[in-house]
Amino acid sequence: MADGQPVRTIAVLGAGTMGHGIAHAAINGGFDTWLYDVTDPALQKGNDAVQRIVRKSVELGKIAAGDEQRVLGRLRPTTSLPTALEHADFIIEAAPERIDLKLELFAEIERHAQASALIASNTSALSITELAGSLRNPCRVAGMHFFNPVHKMKLIEIVQALESAPGTLETIRAVSERMGKETVLVRESPGFITTRVNASIGNEAFYMLMEGVASARDIDKALKLGLNHPMGPFELVDLVGLDTRLSILEYLHRSMGEKYRPCPLLVQYVKAGRLGRKVGRGVYDY
Ligand code: NAD
Repeated sequence: MADGQPVRTIAVLGAGTMGHGIAHAAINGGFDTWLYDVTDPALQKGNDAVQRIVRKSVELGKIAAGDEQRVLGRLRPTTSLPTALEHADFIIEAAPERIDLKLELFAEIERHAQASALIASNTSALSITELAGSLRNPCRVAGMHFFNPVHKMKLIEIVQALESAPGTLETIRAVSERMGKETVLVRESPGFITTRVNASIGNEAFYMLMEGVASARDIDKALKLGLNHPMGPFELVDLVGLDTRLSILEYLHRSMGEKYRPCPLLVQYVKAGRLGRKVGRGVYDY
């Protein structure tokens, strides 16, 4: 992408939970969008999910019925990575959270994408500086951390890696705005803003429960009605998964020290298999 030129075509790599939501945000924002996944079934699943969100938007009156086909017409699903990359001036990587796999994808980006294309990774925790460092020009990479479900969540954390150029960050901001999102800028650091604060609140809530300070229901009620949180910390951790929360805390503890040590009660719940809604039992029974 030549300096100062607006983004026209986006390639989203990975059509899973996040990738399909990102592709939807992109077509909704008026971008021609290539959606890539490695297998036909994975691509089909992502494509179907985008179609469902667009149909629902029509039902809810968010877009006019006459616009449905125009919006969907911007979506180009493909299992050919070179095709997706060659056409894009902006690439959003939403592949599984494994550094080896993401580095392989970055090598393909170097091989097939336009040298001026900007690259945003949706990683939750891996080092964007490391991903960027694998390219000849690391200045064109930064983080673009979306939230799940993408079509409902307003925020994008823009993550500045060591060598992200100001122009790269500004373009990501402009693309985010066209997707209808709000942004915050954060230097690369474990848990960015939201994951770090949220993990701390959740951990503190477990300590209070362990110490018998209050019941789970009353802790949730206090945060909802007293602090205006939309969900209590235990309702939220049951949704996220206690195992997921534990692995986030372990990562923050390893990288930033003692204050993130996971509460022993959380560790015990995970050992007991009380992983949250997905298994029918977490802090609460479902
Ligand atoms: P997911 O498992 O739902 O989807 C990943 C998709 O990538 C799958 O469709 C898979 O087939 C595909 N894939 C596998 N290998 C690939 C490759 N080599 N190239 C391209 N695609 C490939 O995962 P997800 O939850 O969508 O997570 C994707 C990224 O987003 C991860 O980095 C994750 O940390 C991050 N993230 C997730 C959430 C969340 O709540 N799920 C929130 C923010 C960020």
